[in-house]
Parts: sequence; structure tokens; C-alpha cells
Amino acid sequence: MGRVFVAGSINMDVVATADRHPRIGETVAGRQVLYFPGGKGANQAVAASRLGARTTLIGRLGRDSFGAELKAFLGEQGIDLGYVVETAETHTGTAIITVAEADNTIVVVPGANGLVGADDVSVVPLLKGDVAVSQFEIPLPTIAAFFHRARAAGAVTVLNPAPAQKMPGELLALVDILVLNETELGFLAGSELSESDAAARITEVARQLQAREDQTICVTLGKRGVLALAGRDEIAVAGRVVKAVDTTGAGDCFVGALAAQLAEGAPLREALTFANAAASISVQRMGAGPSMPTAGEVAAVL
Ligand code: ADP
Repeated sequence: MGRVFVAGSINMDVVATADRHPRIGETVAGRQVLYFPGGKGANQAVAASRLGARTTLIGRLGRDSFGAELKAFLGEQGIDLGYVVETAETHTGTAIITVAEADNTIVVVPGANGLVGADDVSVVPLLKGDVAVSQFEIPLPTIAAFFHRARAAGAVTVLNPAPAQKMPGELLALVDILVLNETELGFLAGSELSESDAAARITEVARQLQAREDQTICVTLGKRGVLALAGRDEIAVAGRVVKAVDTTGAGDCFVGALAAQLAEGAPLREALTFANAAASISVQRMGAGPSMPTAGEVAAVL
């Protein structure tokens, strides 16, 4: 059975709730402060590990209290942290989130995530059958170096290009499986796409983006499920009808679950069905990291 290696961001999300947002220059009294482990890299590693995959996270933390807390949390999830470097140069990645009037504002400061470099990924012991996963919250040249190494070792590369930003063609060409939502697909392909677009339109745009004939593009469609273009084949998995309470981290759960399945050697259709079910469980719970299901919970709904 292969292992999952995630090179990505680790953040502390600091959430302040209030009755209303302050205007510029104003101070308002809030109700509560909550701390959530976050960052797409960490969230996806938590999902893969909870689902039973041997998971290694590659990233950076500051030498501060958030860094220590995150390390403790991620260690408890069974994740190998041997490639998480503590740096004295800057602070742990932090998101400052205010929630009021059913809306939020977010300032994310990458800190140590911005220092994850090619040296950090060059020592990772990737082997054939392993799955290498990354997202767009660490520098793009680092992801390219990681994927070069993974492909040379015979591992499968999975990229979740979120938050969306333009990527060089050379990086896209290193991706075996691209997992993105319809907004990110529209952005990267330069076409307007929305949640209500027909499947045929979404696969047409995905086809335009496909960089290699054997590349797989998985488009997650929220409650509509997922559409994948695997080489020339199309695979659709319908969304599961559930009562969603918080969709934060649904995409991260999907990516982590997909990686865990691929590391186990599952065929693509099976892996997509499993990831769709795992993500549908995560939306029924609050938070990102803490909402990730176990393999038993997914098996129970399949
Ligand atoms: P992102 O969070 O990146 O925008 P999506 O909203 O597309 O990603 O959600 C990712 C996956 O989570 C979907 O493909 C689906 O499997 C699951 N999911 C998301 N929202 C729902 C929902 N309301 N009901 C059931 N499953 C959902």
C-alpha cells in the first residue's frame, strides 16, 4: 500500500464572532474567540490520515505557540511530521477571521508557509505507488520541484489549485490528477463557469485545460457531486443528499480522501465515489479539520 505525502500550508484560524462588523477605524465588542487548525495542506493531510492512509505532511511552522499547538494537533491525527520544519525567521501561518451578520472577512498571513522551499521537498522518500499532493498556499516553484521528484519516483501527483492563481504550463504538465471546483476551473481555463452550468459545458472547459492526454481533471460541484475527465473518459458521481451545516473544508476532505484511496490502489471511479461520500459527511459537521470522517464512517454510508 502506498503512502500519501502532502506538501502544503499549515495555519491557525483565529475566528472572532460579533453582532456586526466594525467600520474602518471603529472597534466593536465581540462575543467569542475560537481557534481552529487549518491551512489546506494540513486539512488534506488530516482527511487522508483519518481515512487510514499512512500520511506525511511537508511544511513549515514558526517557533511560536500556534506552531506548537498545531504540531500537537496534527501529531494526534497520526500524521508523520518528520518533514515539518520550524523556522525562526517568521511566524506560523495565521488566518484572522471575523464572523458577523452571517458573513465573514478573512485576512490570511502566510508566514512560514511562504518559506516552504525546494530543499524541504527534495529529501522526501517518495516511492512508486505513493501519492504526492499539493495546493496553492505554498510557493509554486516548490510544488514543481515536489512533483518533479514524485514523478521521477513513479508516484502519482495530485494538485488542488486553490486558492486560484495563474499557473505556468510546466507545472500543469507535471500534474496527474487536477482537483478543482468549477470557479477555479473557469479561472484557469479563462471561461466564466458557475454552479448551475450543465455537465457538458463543464467537461468541455475541463477538456480545454487538459495538458496531457493521460491527465485526469476532477471538477467538484458542491451538492451536485463530481465530474471527472480521465483521459478521454468521463466519470460522473452524483452528489449525496445530506443536510449541510458547514461546507468549509469540503474540498479539502475530498482531496485528502481521493489521495488516501489512490494510495490504497483503488480504481479512479471507486476513489471518486468514496471521496464524494467522505466530503458529504464533512459538510454535516462544523469546522474543517475536526469535520473529517473516518474510514468506518464512510463505509457506513456507501
Ligand atoms: P470547495 O469547497 O472546494 O468549493 P465543493 O463545494 O465542490 O468544493 O465540495 C467538494 C465536495 O464536497 C463535493 O464534490 C461533494 O462531494 C461534497 N459536498 C459539498 N457540498 C455538499 C453538499 N451540500 N451536499 C453533499 N455533498 C457536498
